[in-house]
Amino acid sequence: DSSFAAAHFSLTSIGVIESDYPDKFGIPRQPGLAPAARATLVLTPPHNDALAVRGLEAFSHLWLSFIFHQSPERWTPLVRPPRLGGNAKVGVFASRSTHRPNRLGLSLVELTRVDTTQGVRLELAGCDLVSGTPVVDIKPYLPWAEAHPEARSGFAPQPPEACPVSFSPSAVCDLAQHPEGESLTLLISQVLAQDPRPAYRKNSTADRLHGVRLRDVDVRFRAVINNDATTLEVVAIV
Ligand code: SAM
Repeated sequence: DSSFAAAHFSLTSIGVIESDYPDKFGIPRQPGLAPAARATLVLTPPHNDALAVRGLEAFSHLWLSFIFHQSPERWTPLVRPPRLGGNAKVGVFASRSTHRPNRLGLSLVELTRVDTTQGVRLELAGCDLVSGTPVVDIKPYLPWAEAHPEARSGFAPQPPEACPVSFSPSAVCDLAQHPEGESLTLLISQVLAQDPRPAYRKNSTADRLHGVRLRDVDVRFRAVINNDATTLEVVAIV
């Protein structure tokens, strides 16, 4: 009986993301955790037709379906969500893991501007996607049908706890000289508040220097531990 056979479908990207995140490392694990993050979804021919987005500007939020193009194609039935410290396992379909069959991702993002002066460019806020991510579909978000604040959310019942972030005097000075210093400071604070250090590092006391690339800068930071409380200190902006 062929009804049990896997069916095969092929997808074509409709556009590509240009974002504040040149690398996967450091990107918050869900959209909206760093609202200062900006991105543009640039639609590509033949999908960059202004007619295809007519009416979209009336919506504040969009669902983007995209491909985790930087994840390997192999997947396993069990994954280790970073949220559980990287040890406990859950089913891949009980997770938002990037290592999944078909590598399909789904993000709810804010639409701040629709620009159809040359092709189609959708300006977005709070995106959790690396620059270069191929997008395969866009749908407007309908809060009356899709928002369920009372829903149970398994091993991730609340937003992750924010980690305090501080800036060294020389980092403050570096940022003051940057043309987008103010918005960059906000972005850095929101990204580091998610504590992007790998799980195994979080328990170590070593004040190793870490780096995360945001927009056109490399942010150097380290963990400062005081009476069991960790602060991430931005040491320099390179
Ligand atoms: N909101 C989406 C979802 O639920 O499908 C993505 C969630 S996933 C846990 C978020 C992580 O995906 C980010 O922290 C980033 O490191 C990673 N990521 C973003 N874009 C990617 C891409 N194009 N390929 C692989 N990983 C990506």
